[in-house]
Amino acid sequence: MVSRTIPVDPFDLVIFGGTGDLARRKILPSLYRRHVGGQMPAEARIIGAARGEMSDDDFRAFTREAIEEFVPATKRDAKTLEEFLETLRYVRVDAVGQDGWTDLRAVVRPDVIRAFYFSVAPSLFGALAERLHEHGIADADSRIVVEKPFGKDLKTARELNAVLAEHFTEQQIYRIDHYLGKETVQNLMAVRFANILFEPLWKTEYIDHVQITVAETVGVNGRGAYYDKSGAMRDMVQNHLMQLLCLIAMEPPYHFDPDAVRDEKLKVIRALEPVAPEDIVRGQYRAGGGRPGYLEDAENPESRTESYIALKVGIANWRWKGTPFYLRTGKRLKARTSEIAITFRQPPHSIFDHPEGWRENVLVIRLQPNEGMNMMVMIKEPGPGGMRLAQVPLDMSFAEALGEGGADIPDAYERLIMDVIRGNQTLFMRGDEVEAAWAWADPIIQGWEARGDRPHSYEPGTSGPEDALMLLHRDGRRWRDIRE
Ligand code: NAD
Repeated sequence: MVSRTIPVDPFDLVIFGGTGDLARRKILPSLYRRHVGGQMPAEARIIGAARGEMSDDDFRAFTREAIEEFVPATKRDAKTLEEFLETLRYVRVDAVGQDGWTDLRAVVRPDVIRAFYFSVAPSLFGALAERLHEHGIADADSRIVVEKPFGKDLKTARELNAVLAEHFTEQQIYRIDHYLGKETVQNLMAVRFANILFEPLWKTEYIDHVQITVAETVGVNGRGAYYDKSGAMRDMVQNHLMQLLCLIAMEPPYHFDPDAVRDEKLKVIRALEPVAPEDIVRGQYRAGGGRPGYLEDAENPESRTESYIALKVGIANWRWKGTPFYLRTGKRLKARTSEIAITFRQPPHSIFDHPEGWRENVLVIRLQPNEGMNMMVMIKEPGPGGMRLAQVPLDMSFAEALGEGGADIPDAYERLIMDVIRGNQTLFMRGDEVEAAWAWADPIIQGWEARGDRPHSYEPGTSGPEDALMLLHRDGRRWRDIRE
């Protein structure tokens, strides 16, 4: 399959926080890959803007190192790297002061698309929006990109939205959730809405339950004190897992159009039921394998913040009432994996004498590693011995199915940054969606805070706390194994 690459229109992309960790690990390497992929027009320019003193050449050296570290050697070469580095500029600016803003104004070109990536702490968003406006650097067609965390509750999310709305319209604001940029996530929409096969079954009559798992093997070491103010619910569930749930549960939009898609996602969030305390299990990893436990990593022996959470979530609408969505995410688990598993109900009647081997049909959508889909179906166990049943996967790995083109699936950041330049907001969260997700999450968090609940401790390298198993056992179900 030949991949089609259409260069985007000429642009200036200013990365505020261009010398930070996110720029180094994700933004700059992703831009380089798009350059190699032929998607960057010759006139594109990338302008690093941060507080430190640096020349253009210093910023180029910083970017070269970032690319050498984060882009595999097989995916880069000296010629494209030099070309790419030529597109870079650096301007020293102070978000909260006046330094550097006239310099930035002089560098940014008025006749190209202008995008501003706010890769800085959210407390600086307001000041950046204000300065861009005050110095006439942004116009009505400019875009701003903001990173998570988008608030820590409904109140702070509303405040952030209000601050940005003072100078930018909703059509100009791109709230990144990189999960939405993953190939499989978009494929989920294609599979659901471009095939007749699944849609008739996509409802509580045929779907028993849904499991969404985002498991990490790493702990919070290095950023423990920061993480301790947030926890798995705020850091993962309110945004990433919620977005995945929406894409599974949403009604077909009337068109693949940013607002049509986001309207349908919003309806799902608004239909989420409150979660009862017995349907929540929180955990903290213990020390083990020569590594410290969560409390030590967080530098807070009294911490009640969760590094793991499992929840049973209900959706109160005609399509989903009666089909639980079990969500779980955690750190220091046995494998690094993200997947959605949709388990179908039993056939109404078995015609076979030996139904022992029978298992439910499960559609598994893997986000990482090895993005792809897997449909578990029943067949006759091969060979003699009568009609015995066996479950086999109908496997579709995108990298394999799409051949060479598939192996070059762009990383989520690559796609999302190009979408910003193209002006396509479909894969970005709208302000009302973010607020609705917090409106659902807030009472859950407030509930455990008011009750003084302590997270259960769990052994590192496992599937999480034992109690999380009970969340499904109680309902006569089982979690899928966490494995790569
Ligand atoms: P960082 O601390 O590594 O970098 C911060 C950058 O902001 C630096 O370039 C610094 O010079 C600049 N800066 C700080 N104060 C400034 C000021 N007054 N004026 C101008 N520039 C200033 O941070 P990071 O890890 O790159 O994170 C950036 C944002 O992205 C944060 O909001 C973070 O929550 C979010 N984020 C980061 C990651 C990640 O993997 N690092 C992942 C998701 C979201």
